[in-house]
Amino acid sequence: MATIFEKIIAGELPATILHRDERVVAFTDIHPVAPTHILIVPRKVIETVDDIADEDEALLGHMIIVARDLARQQGIAKDGYRLIFNCRTHGGQEVYHLHLHLIGGRVLGRMVHRD
Ligand code: AMP
Repeated sequence: MATIFEKIIAGELPATILHRDERVVAFTDIHPVAPTHILIVPRKVIETVDDIADEDEALLGHMIIVARDLARQQGIAKDGYRLIFNCRTHGGQEVYHLHLHLIGGRVLGRMVHRD
């Protein structure tokens, strides 16, 4: 069954698209945790970080380059930001289509909260 992100990539669900090319689509997160919260999503269906193949190495590099450029466009590059991949249950992954979170625009807290 297609995930929400596949439907966004196919244009079947609305999203605020900030970048699209032959390999990735980037759009704003529907529940932003900071003033800038963008998801960089490969068109290729890869469920989790654990499902990335060796042959995906260039795609992963491209996702980070797109995130870098979007951060500059959004004016958050100088102050800094955070890039996050959540993987499976312990990583807090909700949508099982690989995506890179670009989060910034305010001082972010600790990387991981201590329980
Ligand atoms: P993750 O927990 O890493 O799987 O992140 C999934 C992210 O997708 C969450 O931050 C959600 O707010 C976001 N999200 C879910 N549905 C949509 C949607 N329709 N459009 C944009 N972002 C979404």
